[in-house]
Amino acid sequence: MTTDMTSYRIGDIVVHRIVESICTDFEALKFFPETTPEDWEHHSKWMAPWAYVPKTGNIVLTIQAFLVQTRRHNILVDTCVGDDKPRPQRAFWDMLKLNTFLPRLKAVGVTPDKVDYVMCTHMHPDHVGWNTQLCNGRWAPTFPNAKYLFTEIEWQSTQALHQQRPLPHFVDSVLPVMEAGQAQLVNTDFALDDEVRLEPSPGHTMGHVCVRLSSHGQEAVITGDCIHSPVQCLEPEWVMRADIDSALAARTRRSFLVRCCESSIVVCATHFPEPSFGRVVERKNIFHFEYL
Ligand SMILES: [Zn+2]
Repeated sequence: MTTDMTSYRIGDIVVHRIVESICTDFEALKFFPETTPEDWEHHSKWMAPWAYVPKTGNIVLTIQAFLVQTRRHNILVDTCVGDDKPRPQRAFWDMLKLNTFLPRLKAVGVTPDKVDYVMCTHMHPDHVGWNTQLCNGRWAPTFPNAKYLFTEIEWQSTQALHQQRPLPHFVDSVLPVMEAGQAQLVNTDFALDDEVRLEPSPGHTMGHVCVRLSSHGQEAVITGDCIHSPVQCLEPEWVMRADIDSALAARTRRSFLVRCCESSIVVCATHFPEPSFGRVVERKNIFHFEYL
């Protein structure tokens, strides 16, 4: 657990974690609203302090993207919260000035112009932020040469939500990409090539996808938000506060864990505490996340 592992190789593919921040602002009982203090008494013992902060009762989440480098492409999967974004509903993500994301991307040799694809697991504020940045007072795509892939279902369903209640992140981090003509709407099982493809994982949002990587017989999967914390390996039915269809999210999560366990593939768990790479294993009918 003390390793600072920031990248992992799958055949010809290298996956780098690009960390924007470590978030300890979410209260466990509110993040998983159906849980009780007794649930946490049980789990906090093995989760503290790396995944649960006993003093505050908050959970530890990594806010990060994965840079997937294949022989052909630089692919950025999700783009964190972003700087300068007005998020009045979420004080700790409001108008951030972290200046961590692009420097850390650059530190692995990738400047914004070198990103070929931006893949979006779903359209929540902590996954689309760096899609755009302020440029002369306007939101412009951060990655000028990239195609941004969104799933058609996610685009349609987020648009519908936005019509009911305006979503600031949709306005400043998704619409400008559309307007610039850099977006490509794809199916939830879209394959970019023989190494990188999407895998439908609905429930957290309707168009949510994981990203599957495969090279020379080695396999990995980027979770997005089909699972948020290692505790959900043991408790797949725990609903996260923003799961739009909680029953579907729980079914998706359980079948995801079963498949990960059976195939023993490398799991790049988007919000898990660092180093976030691991495998799902089963002991006595209970799943666990074993860090690499
Ligand atoms: Zn998220």
